[in-house]
Amino acid sequence: MLKARQTVLGLKEYHPPLAGRSGLRLDFNENTEGCSPRVLERIRQVTADELARYPEREPVEKIVAATVGVAPEQVLLTNGVDEGIHLLCETYLQAGDEVVVVTPTFGMYEVLAAATGARVVSVQCEREFRFPLDAVLKAINPKTRMVIVASPNNPTGTAATREDILQICRAAPQTAVLVDEAYYEFYGQTVLADIKGTPNLFVARTFSKAYGLAGLRIGVLVGDPLQMHSVRRVTSPYNVNAVALLALPVALNDTDYISNYVRQVQHYRVYLAARLSMLGIHSWPTHANFLLVHIGGRHREFVVAMRQRGILVRDRSSDPGCDGCVRITIGTREQMDKALAALEAVATELGLVKGARV
Ligand code: PMP
Repeated sequence: MLKARQTVLGLKEYHPPLAGRSGLRLDFNENTEGCSPRVLERIRQVTADELARYPEREPVEKIVAATVGVAPEQVLLTNGVDEGIHLLCETYLQAGDEVVVVTPTFGMYEVLAAATGARVVSVQCEREFRFPLDAVLKAINPKTRMVIVASPNNPTGTAATREDILQICRAAPQTAVLVDEAYYEFYGQTVLADIKGTPNLFVARTFSKAYGLAGLRIGVLVGDPLQMHSVRRVTSPYNVNAVALLALPVALNDTDYISNYVRQVQHYRVYLAARLSMLGIHSWPTHANFLLVHIGGRHREFVVAMRQRGILVRDRSSDPGCDGCVRITIGTREQMDKALAALEAVATELGLVKGARV
């Protein structure tokens, strides 16, 4: 009988709960309003000829390179950040290697690294989900071939500092250090400029979050030109589809759309945290477009009751160190008012309100 590799049979399965997502989508950190109308307009005009051709990535990579201020040979467009992670794992890892990840974090790092036969070493965040620099440095040894840091991190919303990242890169020059900046737009700080002079540093960005294009599947991986040459060797020439490539320059051009949306999210993440705090519900300061909220023992009922009120939120309770936690994506004023009304009703119903000053 045909059998998958032993490593594959031993992998954790990653099944995001996508089924039946009707309601206000505050469960996947997507853009809650959708992409720029200009992008939609461009997609509506796609011609048969544009679809008949194999997609050409390079001209769009030049545009992205100019937009983010790096050389075109440093840029690889990918089928979402997911593919960027996959390609780095394929380029650098083999059985017996070690990969350091900081937990709790985005689940695909472990799956894609472990699939190569590498051993995943998890380092737990410090108190209040602070970045555990010392523990990461301690976990690095001559077998370490990759360190993956989401900054801001999902599901915590906390970030590693530039100095943290550079220390890791310097301490382990034989190690690929991937900084996943999927939530960069909501944070505004980046280590992109540090790639020059730090040849083992890689930065991944996505158009799935602020840009509202999760369904198109497009992201970008940036690294040292020599390293990216190796990464391209394991990349399909047609990994990014034609529609995504047509849409991306339009999306990048509509800077007002992104900055307006980001401004709203930055405002309402503070507002939501303050309103929760008035209910006696704790959340952690966040640099991303979501809030990790401590609901406590009734987290499952909370998620179900919110869904019944038409609001989708994500239970993160089984993530390491996140017992009783639920993650809520931040959207616009109207959406946050709607979410808050439901939240206050559910919190009262479940007896979560402590010393309420509603
Ligand atoms: N990185 C992080 C930290 C994420 O939270 C997510 C989405 N949940 C991704 C990557 C996936 O991004 P993409 O849609 O570009 O594959």
